[in-house]
Formats: sequence, C-alpha cells, structure tokens
Amino acid sequence: MMEDTIAAISTPLGEGGIGIVRVSGPQAIEAVKKVFVPRKNKDLAKVPGFTLHYGKIIDPADGKIVDEVLVSVMRAPKSYTGENVVEINCHGGIVAVEKVLELILKQGIRLADPGEFTKRAFLNGRIDLSQAEAVIDIIRARTDASLKLAERQLSGELREKINAVRQKIINILAFIEVSIDYPEYEFDEVSPDSALKNIDEIISDIQKLLSSYERGRILKEGITAVIAGKPNVGKSSLLNALLRKKRAIVTDIPGTTRDVIEDYLNLKGIPVKIVDTAGIRETEDLVEKLGVEKTREYLNQADVTLFVIDVSMGIDENDEKILSLINKDKSLLVINKIDLLPGKVNFEHYAQKTGIKNYVPFSARNFEGLETLENKLYELFLPEQEGGGESALISNLRHKNYLEKALNSLLSAKKNIASGEPVDLVAIDLNEALRELGAITGDTIGDEIINEIFSQFCVGK
Ligand code: GDP
Ligand code: ZN
Repeated sequence: MMEDTIAAISTPLGEGGIGIVRVSGPQAIEAVKKVFVPRKNKDLAKVPGFTLHYGKIIDPADGKIVDEVLVSVMRAPKSYTGENVVEINCHGGIVAVEKVLELILKQGIRLADPGEFTKRAFLNGRIDLSQAEAVIDIIRARTDASLKLAERQLSGELREKINAVRQKIINILAFIEVSIDYPEYEFDEVSPDSALKNIDEIISDIQKLLSSYERGRILKEGITAVIAGKPNVGKSSLLNALLRKKRAIVTDIPGTTRDVIEDYLNLKGIPVKIVDTAGIRETEDLVEKLGVEKTREYLNQADVTLFVIDVSMGIDENDEKILSLINKDKSLLVINKIDLLPGKVNFEHYAQKTGIKNYVPFSARNFEGLETLENKLYELFLPEQEGGGESALISNLRHKNYLEKALNSLLSAKKNIASGEPVDLVAIDLNEALRELGAITGDTIGDEIINEIFSQFCVGK
C-alpha cells in the first residue's frame, strides 16, 4: 500500500457541466472532511462505502463557499485504486474544480502523476498490466471497434488467456523439478515425447494469440489508404465521396490538388486515414514537385492504395508510371467515371491491364459503386474469418513482442529436448518463457518499464 495520498482532476479540462476531483490514499477521507460541509452534518469517516453525499466545499481559510458538490466515498480495497477513494463532483465549471483541487492539495495531499491512479490499481493488484494498458486504449479509442476491443482487454480476457498458458508451462516445470529431485523414478510426464507434445500445445496457443495481432492492430490503429492516380481522374472527387463532404478542391484543371490532403473515415468501426495526393508525374513546377515527393512518401506508408483511373480516357503511360510505384497486391483499382460510358465497359480488361485484381466500377459523380468500394476495402483488411477464428485479442505491440520472445524460448526448449539435453537446461527455457508471458500481465517486469507504460497516461487517470 502506498503511504501518501494523491489527488487530481479526473475529467477533461474544459467547460463541462461537472468536473471531478479524485482523491486516493489513506488520508483521502480525512483530507476531504476538512473542506467539505455535508448538508446533514454527516461524518464522512463513518459513512458506508459507495455512497453519495451532498454538501458544500468551504475554504477553511476564509469560510467562503467554493462550490456545491456531491462527494462519493469508496473504501479500500473495493475501489478503483484499491485504496480509500473520494470523488468530488463539482458543478461550478473549471475554475471551481481547480479551486477545489487546490484546497485539497493544501491539506497535505500530493498532486497525482499522470496515470498514477491506474498505476496504484495495478500495484495494489486490482488490475493487471494488460488491463491498465486497456485503460489508455479506452481513453484514446477513436472508433467503436477499437473501444470494444479495449473494453474486452480491460475485462481481463487477455490476462486469463496468458495465465492459462503460463499454468501449462508451470505444470511441465513442476514435473521437471520432481524428476530432478527423484532421479530414481521415471515420470511419463517428462518423457521427451510427452514434454514435446505439451510444449507444442503451448506453442500453438501462443501462435493463435500472435495471429490475432494483425486484426487487433487494424481495429485499434486503423489503416492508411492513399488515393493515387494521374491528374484529373477524380481522386479528390473520390475522397469527397468517401467522406461525403467537400474537402478536397475539385477542378477541371489537371494537377489542382497540390497538397496532400488527409482526413479520417470511420469504415464500419475501423479508423481509416485517407490521403488524397497530387498526381505523380515528372514536373518542373516546384510546388507540384513537393506534392509529388510527398505522394511517394505516402505510398510507402500506405496499407492500401486506391488507384484511380478515368474510364472515359483509358490507360496511358501516365497511369503506367504511377502503377510502377505502387504495390498491386495491396491496391484497389477504382474504375472511375462509369457514368460517362454507361453499360458498355469490360471492367475485367482494366484489371488485367493494370495487374490489380481487386477492382470497383465507380462514379464519383453519382456515387455508384461507393458501397461496394467500402466493402472491398474492409474485406481487404478484415476478411471474414473461417470458423470464427481467434477473436482479436492482441492489439498492443508490447504484448506481441513478449509473445514472440516466449515463443522463441519454447522453440529452444523443444530443440533441447529433441537433442537430448538434460532437463534442467529445458527448465531454463521454460522459465524464460514464463517470465516473458508474465511481462504482459506485469507479474514479471521491472519498475522502469512499468513507469514507462504509465507515463503515457494523462493526469487524473
Ligand atoms: P483529381 O485531379 O484526380 O483529383 O480529379 P478531380 O477529383 O479534381 O476531378 C477532375 C474532374 O473530373 C472534375 O471536373 C470532376 O467533376 C470530374 N469527375 C470526377 N469524378 C467524376 C465521375 O465519376 N464522373 C464524371 N462525369 N466526372 C467526374
Ligand atoms: Zn485532386
């Protein structure tokens, strides 16, 4: 248990209807008592946990009323941090909230560091590290899909999976220990065959989790889609259609979109950063040249390229030039302006000519094909999973790295068993894997990394 008591404003700074000052630690209740005058002379130190109390915050220095508030009391260990927590719901806007915090700090309470409430929850065993990280993800979630993913992680789903895998490793280790202590017995469980089988099972568990990373990452961080194509094919019009608003400048003059323009699109819950580029072509015009340079840069970062052609113009060497710069496997061919040639187009021909398998006949003028385009874009990244698949659980690079390390340790254990090394050598690998997995939940990890993780939080969380 931490000895000092901390406080901070836990709601976003701004003109909200209410703001909350959160106080946590052994002196939380006593400190608030000094500035809070409850309506019915209640004693905060005696009220039951999880109750709400109306009253006024009064500055003890001059007896002036600072705000009318609702105070909630949550007692250790059943609170967010696992300590005594008092939350003061202020009603008077940001100035009042800050004044209340100031008064609390004057009672010998320390201002909380960023993420310190959640860090205490972790240190007091209320949540594991993967759950604490989920709190950051929830705060930062930009879409429903990423929010849901983070909420599942917060519920402890990942911790349970990791702990189940760790338990399997512990079981093997236990038998190894016994066989070292009692060399006269022969244990089936540590026979090379049986150990290899058990380790294979663990490896497969970890691989399943790892394979969920790509999906998890996309749900959480989204994708970058870059619109490319020569001038005047309708790139900016496509961007506008996708965003359903006028954002990029659309003109008849080729090369009008000088700057790279980007915006976010919510594609069935996935955040998609969508970038409109100036046409890529050799140019003497410096302004345009910058746009071209940027386009190349963006193409390198693109998860997907939307390659736009003008069906009324066909494909010429300018299209070919851009085609040579993009990754065709990660592209979608947008055959634009189909309204100009109704009913007589062989679209397959364009797919063959460009070498981009995925194509969508489209009209930025009347939005024909827009829904198909969105569906194809989605399918490209989150294909329907056969047999349901492992639901996305890993979305954090740190978790992925530790899973990979654990996997390597297990592979090394396998190799040592296969080459007949003594069991204590195998035990070293298994212990290593145990530690790597424990780093995900925070059971086996150094202070430095823990501090690093919590420093990503904002104050008050
Ligand atoms: P960009 O240079 O590739 O960004 O092309 P723009 O989006 O600026 O469009 C160039 C011209 O093509 C504009 O006059 C648009 O109105 C027109 N345009 C774009 N899409 C379509 C379409 O689907 N059908 C028709 N008929 N015209 C379009
Ligand atoms: Zn444009």
